[in-house]
Amino acid sequence: MKVTITAIKADIGSIGGHTRPSEEVLKSVSDFISAGKEKAGIIDQYIGYTGDDIHLLLSHTHGINNNEVHKLAWDAFKAGTEVAKSQGLYGAGQDLLKDAFSGNVRGMGPGVAELEFEERPNEAFALFTMDKTEPGAFNFPLYRLFCEATANTGLILNPLLSKGVVIAVMDVMEGRTAEFHVPEDNFLLAAVLMYPGRYVVDTVRNSEGPILSATTDRLHNVAGTYVGKDDPAALMRLQKGFPATEEACSVFKTAHYVAGDARGSHHMPLMPVKVRTPASANFCIPIVSCVLFSMHNGFFTAHIDAFDTPDWEYSRKKAIKKAEYMREQGFVHPATLIPEELEYNKGYNAMMDEVKKRFK
Ligand SMILES: [Mg+2]
Repeated sequence: MKVTITAIKADIGSIGGHTRPSEEVLKSVSDFISAGKEKAGIIDQYIGYTGDDIHLLLSHTHGINNNEVHKLAWDAFKAGTEVAKSQGLYGAGQDLLKDAFSGNVRGMGPGVAELEFEERPNEAFALFTMDKTEPGAFNFPLYRLFCEATANTGLILNPLLSKGVVIAVMDVMEGRTAEFHVPEDNFLLAAVLMYPGRYVVDTVRNSEGPILSATTDRLHNVAGTYVGKDDPAALMRLQKGFPATEEACSVFKTAHYVAGDARGSHHMPLMPVKVRTPASANFCIPIVSCVLFSMHNGFFTAHIDAFDTPDWEYSRKKAIKKAEYMREQGFVHPATLIPEELEYNKGYNAMMDEVKKRFK
């Protein structure tokens, strides 16, 4: 059976700042999907949130970029936005950038990641979702997962992984993609992934089929002006010819520094968190969560929270410590982003215009 899994995420408003959606908003989105799923040919649905971003996961047999599936998600987010507005939530509807739906949600604000594949008898996959950061936050962990045997022994032990993968990288400024085959292109890939603000992992595949799809829309390019942090999500198939679950998840224990957090203008560590965790009020430490699914005949038969076990507390503490160290740096780069990547660059530019007048 050929199945498509579609993850669509959007920030449509949150409580007391950019924290998390309300239960009422989540219920309205979920109810809207439930009411329309039969007509749109949806087999199963899952709804969750990470920080202020709601993510919908839908399974169906209509392939990627399907009009009906995308429209249902779009309309569900519209319905949720009305509830968010009625509650006076902050940033209500902020990721819905267009008034009218036109074919699919790509370029309209929400992030989309989709995989179409022949379902295995024991299909296992992960939904990774991040908040207060950018799509390039996946670069370093995915590089280590697919290219570094020191991080993933599976590259030595699993002949299907040893054969390598094809990684498509998107230039988010120009909307173009390039493919790299590892291990041959290992250093070329490292070079392109070095600057995550511009070049981001888009998809990964190998001889067994598609492995990964990530959201790669960059909102400030979509809208022309900056309207919100483009917090990413990714779907990754696991086990057999793909990374083992523990290999795929453990690359996130590094808590590497990423762009984002307070005012989308700083570098802070990426902290692995439990599902349904609000954004941290501690300078918005960037967060990543992961739900692991089993799927059968297109149904999400069971799921668990990947970062819920006690060992992840250690990684969370490490991230908090790294965040403290970086915050000791105050406003000085690299605590802050370079001027072109500051979310609040208008304020900075106005200050610098004043500064420039004083240089003689
Ligand atoms: Mg967010």
